[in-house]
Amino acid sequence: MIGQAEKRQTTTWTISLLLEAATTYLAKQKIAAARLNAELLLAHCLGLSRLQLYLNFNQPLNKQERQDYKRLLIKRAQGMPLQYLLGSQPFRYLNLTVTEAVFIPRPETEILVEQVVNWVQKNKPAQPLKVLDIGTGSGAIALSLAYELKLAKVWATDISKQALAVAHKNAIDNGLSERLNFLAGPFFQPLPANVKFDIIVSNPPYIKEADLVALPPEVQKEPKVALAGGLDGLEFYRTFAKEFSPYLAKNGLIAFEVGEGQAEAVGQMFAAQGLTYEVFKDLNKVNRVVLIYANCKN
Ligand code: SAM
Ligand code: GLN
Repeated sequence: MIGQAEKRQTTTWTISLLLEAATTYLAKQKIAAARLNAELLLAHCLGLSRLQLYLNFNQPLNKQERQDYKRLLIKRAQGMPLQYLLGSQPFRYLNLTVTEAVFIPRPETEILVEQVVNWVQKNKPAQPLKVLDIGTGSGAIALSLAYELKLAKVWATDISKQALAVAHKNAIDNGLSERLNFLAGPFFQPLPANVKFDIIVSNPPYIKEADLVALPPEVQKEPKVALAGGLDGLEFYRTFAKEFSPYLAKNGLIAFEVGEGQAEAVGQMFAAQGLTYEVFKDLNKVNRVVLIYANCKN
C-alpha cells in the first residue's frame, strides 16, 4: 500500500480536482455557496474567468499557484468576505475596486440609486444637477449617479480618507473623475458654504450598537465606522436632519438607505420640519429607501 505522503506526491492537481477539494473544505468550514466561492477564488488566482476554468478542467496547477489558492481559501474560511479577496464588486453598471478600507456595496443600495434616477426622470430638475453623496465608501452611489445622470456634478464625502482614496481610484478607472469632487470630513463640514445640492443621498452607518456583535463574521470584517449607527442606529440621520437645510436646493431631494424598521422614524425627523417623504422596499420586501422631498408637490 502506498503511504499518504507518497500518494500526495503522485497526485496531479488539476483544476477539476482542486475545485472539488476546495469545495469540500469551504463547506466543512460552513461557508455558504462553497462551490461558487471555490470557483471564483481559483479563477481570480489564475487570472481566468469561471468559464475558462471549465474549459481547462484537466490543466495542472504548479506549486506556486496551489499555494496562492490555499492562502485565499484559508482566509475565506476565516470569514474574510469574498469581495475583499477578489478585490472587486459589481454595482449597477460599474465594477468597483473594494479593499478592507471600504464597505462592500450591497444590492439594496442599487435600489436607492434606482429611486434617485427615477425621481430625476419624473421631476426633470434643471441641469446640470448638483449631487452630494455623504459617506461614499467605495464611491458606489456617487459614481453610479455620475454614470447614469450624464450631466450631473457629484460631490462625494467620507470621514475615512482611506475610503476616499478607493472611491477616487474607482472614479478614475471608470472615466468619471472629471465630474466628481472628493472631500474628507464628517457630514456637511468639508463642503463649501455656498453650494446648494439638488440631490443629497446617503447610505450611512445604521446598525444599532447592540446588534454589532451579532453581525455575521464577514460583516464584522468591514470598517466599523461604516456600520455603527449609535445606540438606536439613528444617530447619523439625527445629526443630518439638524444640519442639511442650508445645503439643499429649493425643490431638492434627500435619499437615504435605512435599516429594517427605521424608515418611519427617519421620515418623521423631516416631516417635523415640513418636508414630505415616501418609503420604498428592497428586493426582500423590507422598507429600505426613504425619499424626502423639499417640495411638497413631489
Ligand atoms: N456609500 C457606500 C455604499 O453605499 O456602498 C458606503 C456606505 S457605508 C454603509 C457608510 C460610509 O459612511 C462609510 O464609508 C463611512 O466611513 C462613512 N461615514 C460614517 N460616518 C460618517 C459621517 N459622519 N460623515 C461622512 N461619512 C461618514
Ligand atoms: N447593509 C449593512 C448590513 O446589514 C449595513 C449597512 C449600513 O449600516 N449602512 O450589514
